Amino acid sequence: MDIHKKFSSCWQRVVESCCSKRLKPNEPEPEKQDTGVNIDPGSTHQPEPTSAISRPLPPTPVAVQPVQRYIALFDYSARTEEDLSFNTGDILEALDKSPGEWWIARALTGVSASQQGYIPANYVAPVESIDAEPWYFPDTKRQDAERMLLAEGNDQGAFLIRNSESLKGELSLSVLDKGKVKHYKLQKLENGYVYVSKTKPFATIKELVDYYTEQANGLCVRLGEPCKKMQMEAPQTYGLSYNTVDLWEIERQSIELKRKLGAGQFGEVHEGLWNGTTSVAVKTLKPGSMDPIDFLQEAQIMKKLRHPKLIQLYAVCTTEEPIYIITELMKNGSLLEYLQKDRGTTLQITDQIEMAAQVAAGMAYLESQNYIHRDLAARNVLVGENNICKVADFGLARVFMKENENVYEAKEGCKLPVKWTAPEALHENRFTIKSDVWSFGILLYEIMTFGQTPYPGMSNMQAVQWLAKGRRMSCPPNCPTVLHKIMMNCWKENEQVRPTFETLQWQLEDYFDLDTSSYDDSTRY
Ligand code: ATP
Repeated sequence: MDIHKKFSSCWQRVVESCCSKRLKPNEPEPEKQDTGVNIDPGSTHQPEPTSAISRPLPPTPVAVQPVQRYIALFDYSARTEEDLSFNTGDILEALDKSPGEWWIARALTGVSASQQGYIPANYVAPVESIDAEPWYFPDTKRQDAERMLLAEGNDQGAFLIRNSESLKGELSLSVLDKGKVKHYKLQKLENGYVYVSKTKPFATIKELVDYYTEQANGLCVRLGEPCKKMQMEAPQTYGLSYNTVDLWEIERQSIELKRKLGAGQFGEVHEGLWNGTTSVAVKTLKPGSMDPIDFLQEAQIMKKLRHPKLIQLYAVCTTEEPIYIITELMKNGSLLEYLQKDRGTTLQITDQIEMAAQVAAGMAYLESQNYIHRDLAARNVLVGENNICKVADFGLARVFMKENENVYEAKEGCKLPVKWTAPEALHENRFTIKSDVWSFGILLYEIMTFGQTPYPGMSNMQAVQWLAKGRRMSCPPNCPTVLHKIMMNCWKENEQVRPTFETLQWQLEDYFDLDTSSYDDSTRY
């Protein structure tokens, strides 16, 4: 068999095989082979595969079930009597994965050892996978990596491996060195081997990590402990529990309203407790203030849309008034209030751009789903821990009904947030994803001015007339011109030439990667 061909695979294969060398207890360690083959850059010679690859395990008999052992990546506290509590690092055995996002599992270790119950599938990873590694932080952006590594509790050499933002499908290594974070691209050879230095390729990422934990050999510092995980990183579960995924009408009695968080046109928002266990936000609909069918339509739309940068709808209570809509709770309330409170005391330009990128990511998802938001503004973005932003309030969004005519007709008499609304939407009631892009430009202005109302000193009418003359807001103080250019692109008269949200997302995410100086370290060899 052509072993090179067999394993001339891609990155994914490397990722999957990351931990393939783990030994069963008492199994003798196979003889090590030297992986440090010097590669002549001009040669086509590929390094010899390491023991993990040259000695593949015998094929698993078809009849044998794959091992269903998982490691908990986060703490989880049971929300219902059927759930299982567990802590990070506990080992669980999946008994039934068919329910989808909630599995039936048995805890093999930890607080619930030998008990059985439902677990959120996105809180665990197969024991033998890169996801289970304490240093793998897949969805961590470069800036978050820096923030996390610089946080208290991490020492010299603390590190993590994350998905690269600029190069999709590639990985980066971020390392703490003398109070600064350095980033290295993990490059790969055609045969799937990975390296920081081309002269030292490894069959798996785990081998690479193990090697640089022993010696720096060209890295700025020898790898130390994996970066400490912050509590906030636990992802949202899919729905409140296994049984609200399909049955999302829940008992009103299961919700206890704790305190009022705010109020909007259609009702109030409270912090609530579901089932005595889980904090949620509860939006109540003022009786008679809006057509309940419209409200339910909003809920239907929200329920289908799932993205880490969109507020998740958990459940509704619609059998009597006031109708409740139950969503995830965001600790820091609306982005507008958050910006206005801060005024630049703690938030820096990097945070502002990062927040804008998150909104763009949520909107790019809506764009991909052919939904329009129709009321995008800082007041409709919510903020959680560590400046996490999520787009909320799809109250006015509607599915595009007509193919090739992505237009939503505004209802007559509907109040519009004039200063956020694109001209074609204001004048012709034409709402498209491109009118959302216009609003995003205004939101960017709000972010860069710490929540200043757009078109300062102008009434709605004056702003509309001013825009009609082709005028646009100038670059706000302390705002990089690149960002003002992005705003101006969003405010193009011709909606067709405004950028997509996908473009806006990468433009904002790549903003800091333009400075690649720290990556240059990886070519020092
Ligand atoms: P309108 O609905 O009239 O456009 P709005 O968006 O400000 O106005 P709501 O969505 O009702 O009104 O929210 C009112 C306030 O409640 C928000 O400004 C925010 O501070 C708070 N809030 C809303 N949803 C949440 C949530 N999921 N988590 C935490 N706070 C929230």
